[in-house]
Amino acid sequence: MTLKKILIANRGEIAIRIIQAAEEMKIKTVAIYSEGDADALHPKRADEAVCVGPVESQKSYLHIPKIMEVARDLKVDAIHPGYGFLSEKAEFAKAVKKAGITFIGPDAELIDQMGDKVAARALMEKAGVPIVPGTGGLDDIESAEKAVLKLLKERQDFQFPLLIKAAGGGGGKGMRVCHKKEDLRTNLERAQSESIKSFNNSTIFVERYIEEPRHIEVQILGDGKNAIHLYERECSLQRRHQKVIEEAPSPSLTDSLRHKILDAAVKAAVSVNYSSAGTIEFIVSPQDDFYFLEMNTRIQVEHPVTEEITGIDLVKEQIRIASGEKLGWSQKDIRQTGHAIEARLYAEDTEKGFLPQPGKLHFLRFPQRKGVRVDTGVESPTTISSFYDPMIAKITAWGETREAARRKLHAFLCEVYLEGLITNRSFLIEVIDTPFFIEGKYHTHLLEDKSWRKKTKSSPQILAALCLKDYLDSALELQASKRSLWQTQEAD
Ligand code: ADP
Ligand code: ADP
Ligand code: MG
Repeated sequence: MTLKKILIANRGEIAIRIIQAAEEMKIKTVAIYSEGDADALHPKRADEAVCVGPVESQKSYLHIPKIMEVARDLKVDAIHPGYGFLSEKAEFAKAVKKAGITFIGPDAELIDQMGDKVAARALMEKAGVPIVPGTGGLDDIESAEKAVLKLLKERQDFQFPLLIKAAGGGGGKGMRVCHKKEDLRTNLERAQSESIKSFNNSTIFVERYIEEPRHIEVQILGDGKNAIHLYERECSLQRRHQKVIEEAPSPSLTDSLRHKILDAAVKAAVSVNYSSAGTIEFIVSPQDDFYFLEMNTRIQVEHPVTEEITGIDLVKEQIRIASGEKLGWSQKDIRQTGHAIEARLYAEDTEKGFLPQPGKLHFLRFPQRKGVRVDTGVESPTTISSFYDPMIAKITAWGETREAARRKLHAFLCEVYLEGLITNRSFLIEVIDTPFFIEGKYHTHLLEDKSWRKKTKSSPQILAALCLKDYLDSALELQASKRSLWQTQEAD
């Protein structure tokens, strides 16, 4: 089956990314957008674009009936959900299939199973993949407390600190660390009420909290029969349990551990007859024990690092698999070359708990550098909306060695020219210049513990020079446009 027209049920950089892949495959595209995104880039870049509702996601990007109406009216033959939004909502995949349209992703049933972290853990345990020691699904708080206390007595590998998680959680939300027995009940209660509020789901479960772990995930491609891996990504640099910098290959794995993890991931994918691109996430302890965390049944935000080291276009592969093609690769065809590092540029205040900083982005300009890829969905001047993820761009540098990639990314970030918003740019520059990053020795808690900031190699002088460069650049730009900043602001 050849796909002729794809609707992209998403916004921002991933919508643009999918449009690019479709264009190269000579497939027409339909963008959907909210009233808040009328001036955004993705409706302009697609062949057709339809407004599906107000700025609130619930009424636009998450509104299944409205999206399906557009898909039918414009006679699309497939829908790509991107990441976030409806990408992991089984109900959406079902509605797409029912309308006789191809869903670019795995079957609804699998999305459903993997979207429930408790069900996913059980499936993986059955397939022989190690899972974090922990409980099954818990609903009633009194029996939950009893079940946890019982397991604490029974299992040596299940001890405090513990992590209470939402079965339906995602996006780093719905997790609560519990350090002692006395706090267990309150923490269970709080975790459950947060889970109900955020995910409309009362089921929670409890895992051992692994301290100073690494987050390693494996990119998978499957066609329902065969599955292969495209190596791992190291995603341990996180804030609020969400990734900020990702790289491939991981600088922290020994070859033997790497192969064990890659084999476990392929085993996991094969055990569920996985079809499409997917990611198996693992958590690795300082003692090199590794455990399955979750499976993401969609394209991942950080997929560019894998594309850069393997040369494989993952979005095109998703489209090919969805159109019924068999995997065009066997494991031995997949080679990795060099090293890639991605940094997520966010409008957020790193000094204030990484709080999103939506607002007007007056100027944004990226330098051109060989070996650096920019994935963005915005063009300045624009507004970074408070209604959506405040990510401005993903910047991915490739180098023959890790150090070459790191230096390229550093230089590029220093040259990005941004005016009008608080962003994490100088934070990113600092992070990739710290000894722990240079040596590739880091774990998931590092960014939230600020003590490393004193050890950065980006001296205050370098940061001051960067600020001065920004200031001079903006002065020149303003002179060129013969406007002053206050005039621009006043016009907003
Ligand atoms: P990745 O592992 O690919 O970084 P995440 O799960 O952190 O993926 O999130 C991917 C995107 O989807 C992000 O933009 C995030 O904000 C959004 N997202 C994912 N799950 C949720 C959720 N349950 N609630 C809100 N946003 C979510
Ligand atoms: P989400 O669906 O929100 O992405 P995950 O289960 O993938 O949830 O976990 C997100 C992050 O939370 C992980 O990358 C890791 O940093 C942290 N985390 C999750 N489970 C554990 C655990 N058992 N011990 C320590 N950290 C954990
Ligand atoms: Mg995750």
